[in-house]
Amino acid sequence: MPFCKGCGHSHVLRKMNEALVQLQLPASDVCLVTDIGCIGLADALFDSVHTVHTTHGRSSAFATGIQIADALLGTGTLKTIVLIGDGGAMIGLQHLVNAALMNANITVLLCNNFLFGMTGGQNSAFSPFAFVTPTTPRGNIVPPIDMCRVLTDCGAEYVARSLATDKELGTIIASAISHPGFALVEIVELCTEHAMEKNSLTGKSLARIVESHDQHFGMLTGSATRSEFSERYVDKYPPRSQETSDNGKYLTPLFKSGLTNQVGIVIAGSAGERVQSTAKKLCEGAMNSGLWCTQKNDNPVTQGSGFSISEVIISPNEIFYTGIEVPDVVIAVSEDGLRELAEKQTLSHLLPSSTVILDSGLKLPPTNAQIFTYPFRKEYGADKAAGRAVEFYLQMSSLFSPDSFHL
Ligand code: SF4
Ligand SMILES: [Mg+2]
Repeated sequence: MPFCKGCGHSHVLRKMNEALVQLQLPASDVCLVTDIGCIGLADALFDSVHTVHTTHGRSSAFATGIQIADALLGTGTLKTIVLIGDGGAMIGLQHLVNAALMNANITVLLCNNFLFGMTGGQNSAFSPFAFVTPTTPRGNIVPPIDMCRVLTDCGAEYVARSLATDKELGTIIASAISHPGFALVEIVELCTEHAMEKNSLTGKSLARIVESHDQHFGMLTGSATRSEFSERYVDKYPPRSQETSDNGKYLTPLFKSGLTNQVGIVIAGSAGERVQSTAKKLCEGAMNSGLWCTQKNDNPVTQGSGFSISEVIISPNEIFYTGIEVPDVVIAVSEDGLRELAEKQTLSHLLPSSTVILDSGLKLPPTNAQIFTYPFRKEYGADKAAGRAVEFYLQMSSLFSPDSFHL
């Protein structure tokens, strides 16, 4: 063991090893997620299982993500075990709270030695009253957090507190790992390097100190009435393969299209003038014509003022990159939209093969593209200008039938 002589971490890891042996889990079904601190050195000792060493306090968030990923995308058999100290638990309290609220199917082994061991013994949120550390030289005056109580209040259904030296600890850890949902075992232990001398602390006095703060040992809760998070998640959001059959996966086209190449279209106008909803109608028309499409919208944070832009890609083939480097078509129907395009230098990059459909009230900066103008705003009003300009483009192009485009 890489720890100081007598350190409680050695007991915990031996007991965890015992639990894994007891459960006879395949090594590939176990993932140890360690936090920063002396306990984080455990990774190197368990070289046949998966190990992930995380940032300080975040181990339970990583573990939650790993467990959900396995449940949804993997075998669903992974047992994810967090090894975290009291310092990490204090720093990452919200992650523990969240994992308990979610009932994430992870096991947290919280090694509580009342202080930050690795960084020199500073006090933590778990330090008892009157505890002397380099940061509380005259004794701690803040009561210690009762993490078992906090997480029980958050819905954790397997919560136990034990001493690292408890003979039953291996069995407790094994049953925590077997629990279908969030499980916490707080293990009270000695940091022999920093905790003992100034506090006259011994292994024998640990239990008395904890109990003097109205914190108790043993199984504190042990039911399984809540379903674990990934089960509820799969119920609500079934994987696509289960949600639709292959037959039901694609829309049946209502119209035909002769489109052979991908086309990138930028529609630019003003907020509140139906630019983005027109782009959505354009996409619907494309999909009803058996084509693939993507839509990306942009507008200032103010939402109701300034420019409004949509980038639409339409293609006979599946689209794997949704950006438009150089548009094939630009449709601009307001000053706001045109100004934004000019600022982004969209217009200056247009090619001679590009098409610009422009409201005739607008003045276009020099461009190589082919330009078509029409008084869309004057003729149809500001809120219909974008839609009519798209219709105009569909009439002159072979993208898909204008009958497929309904404003
Ligand atoms: S500093 Fe404390 S917690 Fe760290 S290895 Fe030594 S005894 Fe254990
Ligand atoms: Mg500690």
